[in-house]
Amino acid sequence: MAARILMGKEFAQKFKAEAQKGAASIREKYGVTPGLAVAIVGDDPASQVYVRNKHKTCEELGIFSQVISLPATITPDDLMAQIDALNADKRIHGLLVQLPLPQHLRAYEGKILERIDPLKDVDGFHPVNVGRLSLGKPGLVPCTPLGCIKMLELAGIEIDGKRAVIIGRSNIVGKPMAKLLLARNATVTICHSHTQNLAAITREADILVAAVGRPEFVTADMVKPNATVIDVGINRLAPKKLVGDVDFAAVQEVAGAITPVPGGVGLLTVAMLMQNVVAAAKMQLQQTQ
Ligand code: NDP
Repeated sequence: MAARILMGKEFAQKFKAEAQKGAASIREKYGVTPGLAVAIVGDDPASQVYVRNKHKTCEELGIFSQVISLPATITPDDLMAQIDALNADKRIHGLLVQLPLPQHLRAYEGKILERIDPLKDVDGFHPVNVGRLSLGKPGLVPCTPLGCIKMLELAGIEIDGKRAVIIGRSNIVGKPMAKLLLARNATVTICHSHTQNLAAITREADILVAAVGRPEFVTADMVKPNATVIDVGINRLAPKKLVGDVDFAAVQEVAGAITPVPGGVGLLTVAMLMQNVVAAAKMQLQQTQ
């Protein structure tokens, strides 16, 4: 039987509506509009599309948005001075630096991200927020895995006691996804490029998350019948052809539920960013009371 298709749009609309409601209630309670600043360095076309989309979504949901476009030649010190100014700006509750950075700044990426005030770190990449997630304490959580876990919950897919396997151990997707599943009592395995007998491990998964960055890497023989398959991958094969990390056509015949690419979890990331801006604003305003 063909799998249930988990359409990102449907979930993203609900998450955005929650963010809009949250922003309105902050305005009502504190007289303050939650605000997001996105710093973009250089002119990478894909990054520009992502940043425009964030800005547009803020406007739709009643969130103040500021895009700070910086030249590709900016020095690490000047970029950090920009972050300091945004950390101090009362209109800004969420702050992120769009990745990837130009080549000459990549060696400073960790330092740059650590310069962001953890209370404004709406990407959830600051070590303070990474630590809070590891400890199971409230904090700001990376948007893509947060969207995946909230989608599973909203879709009514059981996590407690289930076997979850994640392919990929990045700080942006794989590791935080593992922590979120563990916090909900899944038994979690993280796989990576050194994992042996990968297919034997993935076949044990009730919930399989693919965050590899390789087109159609997960094939039907790697999936347990009736499993839930979350495809985080975005691979551009041609200007207008995107595919995920999962061989969707074949795997949907085996899986119980599956997210498509495009139209799957990619749509959730911006919605969760909006929720993080609202959550960050709430934390900051509560602290000042
Ligand atoms: P990374 O490149 O940082 O990580 C990829 C992971 O896959 C690594 O841990 C790597 O292992 C592992 N891997 C690579 N090859 C294999 C293999 N043959 N077998 C098992 N594991 C392997 O990618 P990201 O986590 O940043 O992103 C993953 C995908 O998700 C990409 O397609 C990206 O575009 C997409 N993405 C989508 C987002 C969205 O909004 N929907 C947001 C972020 C990412 P090792 O650590 O050993 O190298």
